[in-house]
Amino acid sequence: MAPRRPLICGNWKMHRTVGQALELATAVRNALGGLSREVEVAIAPPFTALYAVARRLQGSPLRLAAQDCFWEPEGAFTGEVSAEMLRDVGCTYVILGHSERRQHFGELDAAVGLKARAALRAGLCPIICIGETLAERDAGETYGRLKSQLEGALAGFSPDMVAGLVVAYEPVWAIGTGRVATPQQAQEAHAFVRQHLHQHFGEVAQSVRIQYGGSVKPDNAAGLLRQPDIDGALVGGASLQAESFLDIIRACRPPDREAT
Ligand code: PEP
Repeated sequence: MAPRRPLICGNWKMHRTVGQALELATAVRNALGGLSREVEVAIAPPFTALYAVARRLQGSPLRLAAQDCFWEPEGAFTGEVSAEMLRDVGCTYVILGHSERRQHFGELDAAVGLKARAALRAGLCPIICIGETLAERDAGETYGRLKSQLEGALAGFSPDMVAGLVVAYEPVWAIGTGRVATPQQAQEAHAFVRQHLHQHFGEVAQSVRIQYGGSVKPDNAAGLLRQPDIDGALVGGASLQAESFLDIIRACRPPDREAT
């Protein structure tokens, strides 16, 4: 089986106007150079900037991601954006089930699953976010939580569908808090996720990329990204500055390539 190509995705959340987004996207695009041979890189600006940024990225290996989508292709759903619309505007990825959507907008695993199906139908790659709260970790319920989120979101999925998605393990207690999981804690959770996928979907689990997310910064990225089951990162705060985002991408290269 081919080695998994790491994916680093910057989640800009509700930050950046169109002009600011173009500036940041251009800075990342211009500095990417040969880095994109070994690492796939994506940015997820807010909806309002997707079209302009897509045009700016034409011909570049830097990929575009959205931060959410709705599960219907079109219709009377005021305020929603469909996966087809995101594909049309130039997105490759869509982040789904982020803990902020679960926390502030009551998003449940079943909705994440519907959105992921819609994304796959539209030709997008869903990045499905899962992760435990601090209370769940302290109560020893981390794996139970990950299992129920995966089962809820991926109910009825075929191995082929699972082959088309990315999972992001994002412990809620590490998102935006500056408190990062240790490489060992993250690796254990990632190995659990891969094993769970293997149990339910078979060999395809070996090719599914599992990103880590939660306070990834230039100084902690390498330790996380060198773990065998960590295939990249979903980066929030540190993706809002080109230099710190690029340093994280550089940390993704094998140690023997770091000098280049
Ligand atoms: C995120 O938004 O998915 C995230 C991981 O944020 P941060 O890197 O800021 O913790």
